Amino acid sequence: MSKKYRTRSASSQRWIDEHENDEYVQKARRLGYRSRARFKLEEIDQKDRLLKAGSKVVDLGAAPGGWAEYAAEKVGPRGMVIGLDILPMEPIPGVLFLQADFTEDAALEVLDEVLGIESGIDLVLSDMAPNISGVDVSDQAKSMYLAELALDFAQKKLRTGGSFLAKVFQGAGFDEFLAELRTNFTTVVSRKPKASRARSREMYLLAKGYRRADD
Ligand code: SAM
Repeated sequence: MSKKYRTRSASSQRWIDEHENDEYVQKARRLGYRSRARFKLEEIDQKDRLLKAGSKVVDLGAAPGGWAEYAAEKVGPRGMVIGLDILPMEPIPGVLFLQADFTEDAALEVLDEVLGIESGIDLVLSDMAPNISGVDVSDQAKSMYLAELALDFAQKKLRTGGSFLAKVFQGAGFDEFLAELRTNFTTVVSRKPKASRARSREMYLLAKGYRRADD
């Protein structure tokens, strides 16, 4: 066995062990939830009161569906949850799922088709994250690009006063992204929910009170 192979296999095993022992993974399994990610949105929502009965929500990077299932429970039958991911997702009651690559125009076209002339979305969520290559510069650039695309979409579709929550990684491009949020929204706060691993540079930016340019 080559040294390279042995190293990779040891680190994969470490990841599997860590995952299996993670309290949120175990809790998600016990409660029958789609993913441990659900607890991140739940904690932010409990603090910041994002999701209300009847809300219209778009969830970008939805698979395997932890956020989408939580959002659907909170918005109830009068609300709307549209989830989108490049990967497939098992159906969730109350969630319309679209499989598409959000970096491609086709994804926006299919979202436009579903939303019609609707520009009254209450909340845009983005938990999108690229496949991590291990090359920091490129991983950071890819993740900021996804966050920026999500913000562009939010700027087109949010109603006045609407909210935007996005996963971002601290690093290059973060300050510019934060500054852009501050020009478009009344308040911007950062959140690091307990289920977000402490060693991860991942955090969530929550922007509330969208100011539409055409108002
Ligand atoms: N919020 C989800 C949940 O609660 O289960 C977890 C999301 S996971 C951390 C990140 C997701 O972003 C992955 O499912 C991945 O496929 C998706 N993603 C990454 N790049 C994407 C792209 N270009 N278009 C759409 N989805 C993408």
